[in-house]
Amino acid sequence: MSYAREQSMERAKGKVYLVGAGPGDPGLLTLKGKEVLERAQVVIYDYLASDSLLGFCRGDAELICVGKRPGGHTFSQKEINGLLVDRARQGAVVARLKGGDPFVFGRGGEEAEALREASIPFEVVPGVTSAIAAPAYAGIPLTHRNHASSVGIVTGHEDPAKGGSWIRWEHLARGVDTLVFLMGMRNIQGIVGALTAHGMDGEMPAAVIEWGTTPRQRTVKAPLREIAGVVSREGLTAPAVLVVGKVVGLRDRLAWYEASPLFGRRIVVTRTRRQASELADRLRSLGAEPVELPTIAVREPDSWEALDRAVDEIERYEWIIFTSSNAVRFFLDRLRARGRDVRDLKGVRLGAIGPGTARSLESLSIRVDLTPDRYTAEGLVDVLADVGVMGKRILLPRAKEAREVLPERLRELGAGVDVVVAYETVIPDAGPEGVKALFSEGRVDAITFTSSSTVRNFVEIVGKAGLHGLLKGVAVACIGPITARTAEGFGIHADIVAREYTIDGLVQALMDHFMGRRETDPVVS
Ligand code: SAH
Repeated sequence: MSYAREQSMERAKGKVYLVGAGPGDPGLLTLKGKEVLERAQVVIYDYLASDSLLGFCRGDAELICVGKRPGGHTFSQKEINGLLVDRARQGAVVARLKGGDPFVFGRGGEEAEALREASIPFEVVPGVTSAIAAPAYAGIPLTHRNHASSVGIVTGHEDPAKGGSWIRWEHLARGVDTLVFLMGMRNIQGIVGALTAHGMDGEMPAAVIEWGTTPRQRTVKAPLREIAGVVSREGLTAPAVLVVGKVVGLRDRLAWYEASPLFGRRIVVTRTRRQASELADRLRSLGAEPVELPTIAVREPDSWEALDRAVDEIERYEWIIFTSSNAVRFFLDRLRARGRDVRDLKGVRLGAIGPGTARSLESLSIRVDLTPDRYTAEGLVDVLADVGVMGKRILLPRAKEAREVLPERLRELGAGVDVVVAYETVIPDAGPEGVKALFSEGRVDAITFTSSSTVRNFVEIVGKAGLHGLLKGVAVACIGPITARTAEGFGIHADIVAREYTIDGLVQALMDHFMGRRETDPVVS
């Protein structure tokens, strides 16, 4: 068969990609894995694959969870194989997203066989296996010139007490320097017994890492003969890996992830979904677990009339002042919708309330002429007063709901200010029950407010009555003094107020707050 013909048949038949999702930290997906997710029409995923990876999928992709979720339908391996073949036969590009690496205890081999059997083309996209990544995040290098020259990755699923095991314990116990057991929590006692019975020293260092590479990571370390007891006392359960070998001792000096400034902290992010990711990513990179609870959704205003009028006569303005990234986005969208573009802004000077808003403009190669030192409306007024706005026409495209300080003070300075509605903010329909459950069930360490409206809407969603009970023991973090004052107005004390009124400033303030308080550190040993 010619190559071209084979290719066109593949297209008609679709193709399956067995993709390793990595061990939990979404940043550990490979670039190739991400690219496949972005293209796939069907995504069939396990529960160990991080949910946030699904954010890479196309909006119209069919997402099928075949993992063992409590209460949900569990798919047999045969059913999963059937699904892969079926969707590929319909011509779809299918991503089979599997935790860790697809060919390390993931039954990826069986799925590949089923695809070969059905003559479906497939590719394997290896992933970062938990066998390597969980120890790495616990500060345990699996090999080391001075301590270990070989590694074995072993299933802990086979109960050594029950005979019929394929594992040759006598060789493992004496012939391999570092051993990593996956799926071993239920049989941990038996694993320890088998290793020591076959000659391994009971004093050999061992560690168990639960939920490795995620903010829920917990690690315990003990001599081999004590490790099962420590695991049961501390209540560690799957998913977890057991590491046995001299290299485990290196953890005492190399445990880096659990020492991250915000490690294990659950921090609620109340920004719009669209804007949450910047803050969420920063928090995650510092070891925190960001929880998105959008209290604001942004939508088009009821009418574009006022903004359109301003856009049509944009050259009549001396200044356009942007007080949010959303204002930038909606203003520029409208500029294009009216058949114009940034070239029409020639001669108009642009101001931004802070670096985030300025960045929204600069990322489009639009130069910002002015940003204040203090990132508030008051700060803006001060610099504009210095520049001199007497008799100048100023356009202020902004949210329908916004403080009046800026236009009022600019008018006092003699400017002609046109305030036009560029967008509206609304409260998304997150029921109060879900929010309350988040706070009562889960351990929430902090909640972040990045504007007064996030505060107001949060109060609106949960109701004033239960507010104090809900926030008991939760550190309240505000981006600046205005937001903090709004919070205080509702009787919410702002425990943390950023000194620089930016996302970076807020993250820094959270770090300062939590760094000095590691007594509730979730690390066990
Ligand atoms: N293919 C996967 C392994 C699947 S078997 C991989 O390469 O990682 C499932 C086992 O993997 C679990 O029982 C546990 O031992 C291990 N595991 C998966 N994710 C883990 C994590 N985040 N932390 C610790 N162990 C994990």
